[in-house]
Amino acid sequence: MIADLRSLAAHVSDGASDRSTHGEDLTYHPARPPDAVVYPESVAEVSGVLAFANERGIPVVPFGAGTSLEGHVIPVAGGISLDLGRLTRVEVHAADLAATAGAGVTRGALNRRASEHGLFFPVDPGADATLGGMAATNASGTTTIRFGGMRAHVLALEVVLADGTVIRPGSRAFKTSAGYNLAALFVGSEGTLGVITELVLRLHGIPEYTVAARATFPDLDAAVSAAVAMVGSGVAITRVELLDALTLHALNRYKEAAYPEAPSLFLEFAGTETGVTGEVEAARELCLAENAGSFDAERNEEARNRLWEARHHAAFALAAAAPSGSKFKATDVCVPVSELPGAVRHARGLVEARGIEASIIGHVGDGNYHVGFSVDPEDPEAIAAAEEVNHELVAYALARGGTCTGEHGIGLGKIGYLEAEHGDLIPVLRGIKHLLDPNGILNPGKILRSG
Ligand SMILES: Cc1cc2nc3c(=O)[nH]c(=O)nc-3n(C[C@H](O)[C@H](O)[C@H](O)COP(=O)(O)OP(=O)(O)OC[C@H]3O[C@@H](n4cnc5c(N)ncnc54)[C@H](O)[C@@H]3O)c2cc1C
Repeated sequence: MIADLRSLAAHVSDGASDRSTHGEDLTYHPARPPDAVVYPESVAEVSGVLAFANERGIPVVPFGAGTSLEGHVIPVAGGISLDLGRLTRVEVHAADLAATAGAGVTRGALNRRASEHGLFFPVDPGADATLGGMAATNASGTTTIRFGGMRAHVLALEVVLADGTVIRPGSRAFKTSAGYNLAALFVGSEGTLGVITELVLRLHGIPEYTVAARATFPDLDAAVSAAVAMVGSGVAITRVELLDALTLHALNRYKEAAYPEAPSLFLEFAGTETGVTGEVEAARELCLAENAGSFDAERNEEARNRLWEARHHAAFALAAAAPSGSKFKATDVCVPVSELPGAVRHARGLVEARGIEASIIGHVGDGNYHVGFSVDPEDPEAIAAAEEVNHELVAYALARGGTCTGEHGIGLGKIGYLEAEHGDLIPVLRGIKHLLDPNGILNPGKILRSG
């Protein structure tokens, strides 16, 4: 197989180190290296590799930055890991508020190029993921409350189908009613329907005036209630993030910072100076009504960047605080926003009752929260306890009209929960999968059970 692949792509490896880094993720899902890693440098190479693999029934697992959290990139059936990291072309269409980017461009790299034109790309998962991987997981993050996630930003895609055919659904226009929305179908498909090689993405103008704020609360309940009140009152927030005391303790040690170690909301407001000043005051009042102990607003760009960098490092801070050898578990349910206070209370009670030291953080404006804790991957009892907590959280969310994953996706870890949430849809999903990937070579065993 290696010799065939070398005739189709310039960069192919079957070295132990390449195979090992493409056979695991940050979680405790068991590792399984691919047989080969291919680093295509053009859509023609992707097409050639897929046509070859499709003919021989060899599994192909697309790989971006490998930051997904549900075993997505683990080649459970072996085969080829297709690392799109070398597709890094970027073209900014400033007048159209859009950019064309290769699948391997990271969101940080796109933002560096967009900022040269006074523009930015808002979708912001904590990690510096690739745009192809972000589209494939329908990523979202801290700014989704204001700007939406990946699906709201993908205008068009270039996708290579399992048999090597290249298709280009979508257009550069901001809207279209031209038939089925195929571009949106590939967003969130986790590499199971096609390989994204290029994206046309919507950009936004960098706001003239931005303020970040930090509010502390006597307990989690009060912090969540303040967030829900802000969303309900129509205050134009750009970000509203919940961090609990444990997370702030870990962050203070990790970043040598001195944030008060109390349940907190990290907030951001952006727009015109007059508008933002009014929004910040309205938010302050809503926080004080929930007994906030402090509310500190910050205009300085460096201080704002420090605050959001700290938020983005929260998971790494918690991982660093965990015993060595342990792996990180981050749950990811999302509930209708009115259900959020009860959901966070339920989550806190759940981990306390089991004696698990867990942090709770969340993009609470969207009703999305994560319970994070460390797990010894060698300890079956610890894994069972982690699965039990996950199970209870998902059951709680589904019973209240929520979803088993707000942003991380299904991967390997949530196949059973997708069935619980949408069992009636599974035959339709299987039909779509069979139409686009009849030989089942694309990321087998993810989203849907194999076979
Ligand atoms: C610290 C931390 C914080 C995080 N916070 C968030 C968050 O706030 N919001 C959020 O949404 N996620 C978050 N994540 C999860 C992760 O960053 C996202 O899922 C991200 O979108 C994955 O991108 P990636 O490039 O790493 O993709 P990978 O992990 O490499 O791949 C993810 C999936 O997409 C498929 N894929 C990758 N590239 C392509 C392609 N070009 N074509 C087709 N399929 C492809 C893969 O096969 C796989 O199924 C976080 C992760 C970490 C480690």
